[in-house]
Amino acid sequence: MKTAKKKRKKTSSRVSVRVKPGSKKPAPLVARGEPPVVRVVNPKGKGKYIIVCDHASNRIPKALNNLGLSKADLKKHIAWDPGTEDIGLHLSRKMDAAAVIAGYSRLVVDLNRGDDHPEIMRPASDHIRVPGNAGLTAAQRRQRMETFFRPYHGEIAKALTRFTGKGIAPALISIHSFTPEMDGFKRPWHIGVLWNRQEKIARALVRNLRRNNPNLVIGENEPYSLKATNFLKNTISTHAERKGLPYVIVEFRQDLVDTKKKAVKWAEIFLDSLLPALSEPGLHTLGRKRS
Ligand SMILES: [Zn+2]
Repeated sequence: MKTAKKKRKKTSSRVSVRVKPGSKKPAPLVARGEPPVVRVVNPKGKGKYIIVCDHASNRIPKALNNLGLSKADLKKHIAWDPGTEDIGLHLSRKMDAAAVIAGYSRLVVDLNRGDDHPEIMRPASDHIRVPGNAGLTAAQRRQRMETFFRPYHGEIAKALTRFTGKGIAPALISIHSFTPEMDGFKRPWHIGVLWNRQEKIARALVRNLRRNNPNLVIGENEPYSLKATNFLKNTISTHAERKGLPYVIVEFRQDLVDTKKKAVKWAEIFLDSLLPALSEPGLHTLGRKRS
């Protein structure tokens, strides 16, 4: 019986290959010699934290021809979160934690979305048209998901499993930055802390930030909320909230972190308030109910 089953399986896979005679594999989106789609820094870090930078880069692979955008547009916030790579690297060093850093622009695939999100490859962002994302075929979308989205999220899952496999719950720390102005509104916050169902760590972090920095304007679920219905699937919901792992999401205002020196300064401000917020007993207990 077993042999027959195996045989049938083999035959059907051969048939499925044969149904597409002459079909060519599409040319790879990232050529040899281009930077990797995801970088894992300090993969063996002992700190029970995984740092993720979904929007670290504004790079577009050569094959996608800058998505038809000008170099000036690719420097804007629509393409990336400036400063977050420097902040993530600094935290990785200070916390001895692995950091998972995206290698390509959010305009190629927005990694901080559910894989079925309609705006995962946006044809326009902040009133700027993205010609290279207009009218994508299903095959083109699939290729981008396979090339960028799956490997990135695969690395996050792998980094988390290194701890969960040993019965430890690591905390996921998600680093973003936001544009100072959106639709004519000058955003007043210096830094924002976001959360959905797990409130405890986020509220402790906000409290600590206020106490340590009385002059800062700190956004609570600002500049946007993780509770927003069109944003319920994202990196944190996928890898932390649904799995009962602790998490923190922080948003730095981009004009405050747009050089390495400024980014490191703000990483330190964040870290001073973050560490006590993560010090509660049982934080790393796997399977614990979190609120
Ligand atoms: Zn972001």
